[in-house]
Amino acid sequence: MRPTGRLHLGHLVGALSQWIAFARDNETFYEVADLHALTTSYERTTDLAANVREVVLGWLATGVDPTRSTLYVQSHVPQISELHLLLSMLVPVAWLQRVPTFKDQINALGPEIATYGFLGYPLLQLVDVAVMRGDTVPVGKDQLSHLELGREVVRRFNNTYGRVLIEPQATLSQFPDVPGLDGRKMSKSYGNTIDLADDAATTTKKVRTMVTDPLKIRRHDPGRPEVCPVYALHHIADPALVPMVAEGCRSGALGCVDCKGQLAERLNAYLQPVRERRTELEAIDVDGILADGAQRAREVASATLADVKRAMRV
Ligand code: SF4
Repeated sequence: MRPTGRLHLGHLVGALSQWIAFARDNETFYEVADLHALTTSYERTTDLAANVREVVLGWLATGVDPTRSTLYVQSHVPQISELHLLLSMLVPVAWLQRVPTFKDQINALGPEIATYGFLGYPLLQLVDVAVMRGDTVPVGKDQLSHLELGREVVRRFNNTYGRVLIEPQATLSQFPDVPGLDGRKMSKSYGNTIDLADDAATTTKKVRTMVTDPLKIRRHDPGRPEVCPVYALHHIADPALVPMVAEGCRSGALGCVDCKGQLAERLNAYLQPVRERRTELEAIDVDGILADGAQRAREVASATLADVKRAMRV
């Protein structure tokens, strides 16, 4: 996860709940990808350290357990950078250029984003996984093309040098796309998030601003819940309420103001334990947790890198 600062509902539902479930029965490695953050904002690093801490506090508040999972910062494991360089030798530039998010991001953020490092972003993602010998990666739908490229790189490496690297498999979250306040995917870059650290009043205020079905103009107009982001968030906040909301919306018995009021109430109940835990964690030794994690991560990464270098004879 990139160190974007405060985590939001999309992180909790899309990724973290799955991370916690994985950690019950598997060895798990979770990385704060600070080098990835540089690929799109290399000139804005003032808040990087604070954002790393905020992300880790968010993980801990939602129940990620550092005694079950290895939590570390990408740049604290230099073997990742070395493996990235070695694998970059066998990746055709055309493979990286055809990844859909490469062109999409340039269109969205401007041509100045198209650096050498940014082009190699999907390769660095593969290295993050391969270096820890990861066999399963929890990803959103928009990352599947990156993983497919990563699997091609692994196959090319293993065909060239012998079977050393593992081809990772994707596991999609049950809720891969959590809609934000404006109906687009919830994302800090769109400014449409409900943050885990928002208090109840802020959450309620944000929910009131959410877009709804544009055809439901008056209170008693019948609506289409399937196109409404408020309805989508009801599934997260309280699934038991969903049939009632759907029926009320379709029949026109439920107005959007009331529907949003119910959502805000349920969301606040859902998020309250996370908020309380986040407050309790303020004094926790995040640096100590990350130092322990980096030590474990470096052990695994060193072994993988040694195998790769032996196979490549470098
Ligand atoms: S009643 Fe609820 S689900 Fe239906 S359009 Fe309004 S906010 Fe959306």
